[in-house]
Amino acid sequence: MRLTVVGCSGSIPGPHSPASCYLLEADGFRLVVDMGSGALGALQRYTGLAGVDAVALSHLHADHFIDMCSFWVARTYSPQGVLRVPVYGPADTAARIARANDDPDVAGTFEFVTLVPGCHQIGPFTVTAGHVAHPVETFAFRFEHGGQVVTYSGDTGESAVLVELARSADILLCEAGFPELPDLPPGLHLTARQAGQHAAAAGARLLVLTHLDADYDPAASLAGAGDAFGGPVSLAAPGQVLHLD
Ligand SMILES: [Zn+2]
Repeated sequence: MRLTVVGCSGSIPGPHSPASCYLLEADGFRLVVDMGSGALGALQRYTGLAGVDAVALSHLHADHFIDMCSFWVARTYSPQGVLRVPVYGPADTAARIARANDDPDVAGTFEFVTLVPGCHQIGPFTVTAGHVAHPVETFAFRFEHGGQVVTYSGDTGESAVLVELARSADILLCEAGFPELPDLPPGLHLTARQAGQHAAAAGARLLVLTHLDADYDPAASLAGAGDAFGGPVSLAAPGQVLHLD
């Protein structure tokens, strides 16, 4: 399995990174996980758009899905004609992309599969999805292939489901969208320290912090997460490639 960070900027695209987008590859299969604002251009550094085999969307906030509009254009009007592609997402995904695109016919290109909590087979990946704590329906994902495990938090506040999905994971790619401040609203984002607590509770091997706000001090995020986790922590960076084998 190979994980490429296409974009890891929190909430909005930043000057050096798109919003959330990750490319997960195994056995020649390319799965894009989230397609946030600014992601589609950067994604082409790592794969041609005709080479994407499936997309999985954690939720339908713009910083996680809005570039699906441009991806629809690319796959509908490609030189090879319409290139259909499966899109796994929350219940409202088809309607939401159609509205954003102002075209009701997006299902001609996208084969929508509604995610429910539990197990899904996407290409060579066994994917376990679970609802996490965010204001809209949001999934975290546990991706398994060849005995390796990558867990992605989506966007979430504190979540026992996330701990279960990250159990003994080789990599927990976890959002840390909040700074360390008092009186943060629950059910929205994690601080880096809380991400570390989730990684520790799950027994994950490596914690990678993502959904990072450019205004927060990355050294403080690393320190907070490392303190709580006690294991290795790194910050996601655009273009970063993590090999699991
Ligand atoms: Zn969100």
